[in-house]
Amino acid sequence: MPFTAPAIKSFQPPRRTLMGPGPSDVPQRILDAMARPTIGHLDPAFTDMMEEIKQLLRYAFQTGNKLTFPVSGPGSVGMETCFVNLVEPGDKVIVCVNGVFGGRMVENVKRTGGIPVLVEDAWGEPVSLNKVADAFAANPDAKVLAFVHAETSTGARSDAKALAELARKHGALTIMDCVTSLGGIPVLIDAWGIDAAYSGSQKCLSCTPGLAPVTFSERAIAKVQARKTPVQSWFMDLNLVLGYWSGEGRRTYHHTAPINPLYGLHEALVMLAEEGIENAWARHRAMHERLKAGLAKLGLRFVVAEAARLPQLNSLAIPAGIDDAAARGRLLTEFNLEIGAGLGALAGQIWRIGLMGYSAKQANVDYCLKALEAVLA
Ligand code: PLP
Repeated sequence: MPFTAPAIKSFQPPRRTLMGPGPSDVPQRILDAMARPTIGHLDPAFTDMMEEIKQLLRYAFQTGNKLTFPVSGPGSVGMETCFVNLVEPGDKVIVCVNGVFGGRMVENVKRTGGIPVLVEDAWGEPVSLNKVADAFAANPDAKVLAFVHAETSTGARSDAKALAELARKHGALTIMDCVTSLGGIPVLIDAWGIDAAYSGSQKCLSCTPGLAPVTFSERAIAKVQARKTPVQSWFMDLNLVLGYWSGEGRRTYHHTAPINPLYGLHEALVMLAEEGIENAWARHRAMHERLKAGLAKLGLRFVVAEAARLPQLNSLAIPAGIDDAAARGRLLTEFNLEIGAGLGALAGQIWRIGLMGYSAKQANVDYCLKALEAVLA
């Protein structure tokens, strides 16, 4: 008996304004780039574009690292790529946990056979440098320090430069999550001395989700090359992926690259270069200030202290008496506006308003404030 063909028509998504924790609004220019003809992933025209992506990503990460490229997969695959390559069974890893994504790092360390040493801070607080220094003092054999630069679940920014300094002082490598920070606030891989970092295409780069820019220092590469055990993941093993992405010698097939999404990332990075990264950071800051002024008028309170607040991820306490799900539901159905709910320990307590990439613009801020005012009335 053949299965009957379902009478389903083409999907037409509604037009939304995306002001949650990601994905952010994708500009038409990037969507148009993705609609260009698919060519082969070993076509010389395509591989030339791959080299441009690497160059543009080095600019976004502010690094000269040769090993800088987008992993095929979401930010989580970027995360796993760093951990599976840099952590061997038995390696001690100091992991800073001040929100959901630090917690995921712990899971990654466990699954690689590493030994996580937790440095915990309250959700909404930045990572405590003193606690990390204490953890190194108690664990001088720690091989890696892992932390989230911009904790999307809370909106807190940690001091990446100081954390990287601590790691170097103790001879450890750093793994930094900059999924929410890249393109929105300074991410200075070389100036800070970060060894491995991963990001996502769908936040401040305003591309579609599904690609994870990563960068590795020479020290990190040396660690991968000196491994005593093979990388547990075939797909993410840098030694193999590089046969395709390195550009040195003949490119060999590793996996079929997501061709059209890579056109999109290329366009997003060209747009970042055209704007100038310092201007992009300034724009995110300015839009945050505009939002902050409007929220104050509505009597909404930030969860994170000013010094650690991320401009691109604004966490607000849900006012007493307001039904979280009902209010967000109204924003979506009446205003086509998406804002984020609280995650984990902060579920039901906060809203997260994203000002990321193309969403960080005056029209969005003003629209969001107008919609919030209506829903809170
Ligand atoms: N790390 C952080 C800080 C994030 O915000 C996210 C996603 O929101 C991730 C990792 C995982 O990225 P993805 O959802 O693209 O897998």
